[in-house]
Amino acid sequence: MARIAFIGLGNMGLPMAGNLARAGHEVTGFDVAPGAGDRARAAGVAFAPGAAEATGGAEAIITMLPAGAHVRTVYLGDGGLIAAAAPGTLMIDCSTIDVATARDVAAAAAEAGHDMVDAPVSGGVTGAAAATLTFMVGGPEAAFGRARPVLEAMGRTIVHAGGSGNGQAAKICNNMILGISMIGVSEAFVLAEKLGLDHQKLFDIASTASGQCWSLTSYCPVPGPVPASPANRDYAPGFTVDMMLKDLKLAQDAAQASGASAPLGGLAEALYSLYAATGEGAADFSGIIRLIRGKTGS
Ligand code: NAD
Repeated sequence: MARIAFIGLGNMGLPMAGNLARAGHEVTGFDVAPGAGDRARAAGVAFAPGAAEATGGAEAIITMLPAGAHVRTVYLGDGGLIAAAAPGTLMIDCSTIDVATARDVAAAAAEAGHDMVDAPVSGGVTGAAAATLTFMVGGPEAAFGRARPVLEAMGRTIVHAGGSGNGQAAKICNNMILGISMIGVSEAFVLAEKLGLDHQKLFDIASTASGQCWSLTSYCPVPGPVPASPANRDYAPGFTVDMMLKDLKLAQDAAQASGASAPLGGLAEALYSLYAATGEGAADFSGIIRLIRGKTGS
């Protein structure tokens, strides 16, 4: 069992840190949000007055922060983690951020003698609470080997995607597929409505034909065919439109920076932006079918 510092105890970080503590690790956390200390202690996580203080004596540091700018500040800023941690510390950034920042921070960590991986997750707050997250990990083989047993206390599937930044690359590529495919499935259901084709009939046929995909069979955007999908709960999330937008923006930035062509990813970003602008940013992303149907806000 290890001494672990956990920085960023938000919707995802707090249950993840709690699972590490339940697995027998000695976890000390830090978060800038008011009331974070009380919430941490209630989850079995000790609380330090700052990020650097939380790392004292830690063999591993995990971060779960909103975006790339926060990750840069926490690792590279004045009194940041890379300077504060003892050489040889294992650093795991689980935030979803841009590939370039992940690679810059990993390079600085390696320079200072630390092992670092980027390890963004899928599975959402439910997966974080149940310790069933999927981790997409980028970094050197040795760092991955050290990170795996720590990640196993918080997730079920741990995949090594290659060198530094490749965990982030896998995450944004996957979510670009998801964002686009949900729009395609939604367009098909709305067309079926106009043509007088029953939702369940379309589902039964397409789910066993070449239109089959996760957005259809596991997360169907109309109520009925998949009882667990958010469509059955008036599009309560789930995975919000704002989160999908964040990932599609990261994918578009990465496409531009790398010279990849991703026009459908760009169109998907524009459509989710339009949908968010109707006041639906906190709705589940599968609610995009309302925008396509031309009936938002109902
Ligand atoms: P959140 O906003 O609830 O948590 C982030 C926490 O970081 C906040 O509590 C904030 O106070 C803290 N923080 C910010 N700056 C800090 C600093 N300098 N020092 C210490 N703490 C600081 O966000 P979340 O939903 O927990 O998501 C975290 C990350 O996980 C994001 O990158 C998000 O894209 C990704 N993610 C979230 C989900 C989800 O379903 N919520 C799913 C997959 C991935």
